[in-house]
Amino acid sequence: MKTLFILPPQWYPMNPYLSAAQLIGQFKKNGMHAAARDLNIEFFNDILKKKNVLSAVKEAKEFFESFAPEVKANGYCEEKFNEYPRELQTKLLRFIACSEFFSQNEINAEDIAERIEDAVSVMKDKERFYDPEQLFEAKDTLMDALRIISLPFMPSRIMLDNFIANPVYGYDYEDIKLQCSDSNLNMFVDYFNEKIKTEDFAEYSLIGISIFDLSQVIPGLTLAKYLKERTNAHITLGGNYIYKIRESLKKFPEFFEIFCDSVQIGDGEIAAVTLAKAINGEIPIDKVYSLIYKDKNGEIRETETAPLLDMDALAPPCFDGYDFGKYFSADIVLPVQLSKSCYWAKCTFCDFYTGQQCFDIKSVNHAVDEIQSLVEKYGFRHFIIADEAVPPKYYNQFALEVIRRGLKINFYSFARMEKGFTKEVLQNLYNAGARFFAWGYEAESERIMKLINKGIDCSYRKTLLEDAKSVGLWNMCTFMLGYPSETPEEAEATKNTIRNRDLVNSCTPSNFALKKNALLIKETDDAGIKDIVDNGDFHISCNYVINGNPTKNIKKDRMTFQAEFLRQTADALWSLSFTDTDHILLYLSKYGAEWVYNYKLKYKKHNFNGT
Ligand code: SF4
Repeated sequence: MKTLFILPPQWYPMNPYLSAAQLIGQFKKNGMHAAARDLNIEFFNDILKKKNVLSAVKEAKEFFESFAPEVKANGYCEEKFNEYPRELQTKLLRFIACSEFFSQNEINAEDIAERIEDAVSVMKDKERFYDPEQLFEAKDTLMDALRIISLPFMPSRIMLDNFIANPVYGYDYEDIKLQCSDSNLNMFVDYFNEKIKTEDFAEYSLIGISIFDLSQVIPGLTLAKYLKERTNAHITLGGNYIYKIRESLKKFPEFFEIFCDSVQIGDGEIAAVTLAKAINGEIPIDKVYSLIYKDKNGEIRETETAPLLDMDALAPPCFDGYDFGKYFSADIVLPVQLSKSCYWAKCTFCDFYTGQQCFDIKSVNHAVDEIQSLVEKYGFRHFIIADEAVPPKYYNQFALEVIRRGLKINFYSFARMEKGFTKEVLQNLYNAGARFFAWGYEAESERIMKLINKGIDCSYRKTLLEDAKSVGLWNMCTFMLGYPSETPEEAEATKNTIRNRDLVNSCTPSNFALKKNALLIKETDDAGIKDIVDNGDFHISCNYVINGNPTKNIKKDRMTFQAEFLRQTADALWSLSFTDTDHILLYLSKYGAEWVYNYKLKYKKHNFNGT
């Protein structure tokens, strides 16, 4: 009995993802066979080819030229857009995207086609990757190529750091079902049709598909449907995203006929092993932990939640069989996880930790043993510690143990801006190999920080950033604009902190989103959030109005600020970073924070619209 765990597109193609490796480790520990297939990285390697860029631009041109007379003859207009049938709306949005592309001079499709395969090789080349001029030109080329490849499917669009679904269609069940079958709306229908050979999956009795982000919903469910139709395996869906939409899924028994046989809810380390045992006939299906499935009578059932995880009892992640040469990084950054959930878990806007049962952390020795064994087994020395946040006192002990063992590693992680991160602790972390932290700064205003319930002393934040800088660490900070009741002055104060690049070396701005699994969802009246509209059964957030401002305006304001900030800092290596963090670690490990900060790019970037 064999199990396969799949990571579907779209996810950033830089390094292996952790969840499948964690599950394989657990299966091995239990004497069971499991393998992983990273279809996300296969997808990016497959599509970023000269022939695909050329055929996409040809298809887009043919569409544009054949549809232009109809647009002219019918006088379609923006005011009536919502009255048009959805097929026509899609065509009009595609027409606009093609028109914008063909009328700009910055990107020449034939030139991008010539350069795309070399750009992919720059990302993987041990010398060229570390030349910033070549790296940033290659990244722009990848982004340009993805834009061109998306033209025949616009307004759905594949990007390096996101997949934008067609906005004409929603995230309710019927629309999701439609999009997962229609090759005109969804490029993954044709892609999987060509890519997936049924015989490649014949040996597996259980196939788990991990969906942890909105960007994977359409591609992941398209894949699930495809495998459900063409294999005899039990198809199960898991991942943080599936946890967040679990209640919606129960409303659609048909979902368990079309897309999968079951979904796994929450932490999978214990639950997935019990599911494999059930598929192997060792236990009945109703004894599997944390499972939602449709029983023989067509009733949706949910089984008992898996027992709490003991982090020290978990097996280390197993990356055996991974083709590391496919990833878009000259050096691999391996993910590890020291803890589950968040030790604070009280920020009002946050849903990051939901689906992880409760906070538990590996003992320091166990954690360092695990990293040491990964270094010895795979020969990689760069790590992302993929925790929601690591407590400072623990982190200090971890650092001292790494130093004591003389382990030569470099790493980064998220962290809370707590007073426990003293200069001494930061120095120990640097000496142990830390090169940057992603600090949750959120908002400059102390009033907003209190509403967020961040639970930190805001007056300490600047001291912490200065201390971190003085020991050689790079400060990346996450920010949030548009929290309910934020005044224009408060927003401006946050923007000013973002602009202070000497302290905030890289930033990740976002705008407030009302998430269905966040604490704030129960207090929207008190927060002054009005006109809440559910984005659909398969979406994890809602639209809303704050101070007369709808979600789309709040997002637009943030995007405008972000694009302007990126333009103003275009010669910096990483003034803003959403998903480039692994690359930042590699550069900091090689060159140090001062070199990276002071480097002025000669190459002129032209992609300034982050998601
Ligand atoms: S924002 Fe960070 S610190 Fe706050 S609850 Fe979420 S994971 Fe924890």
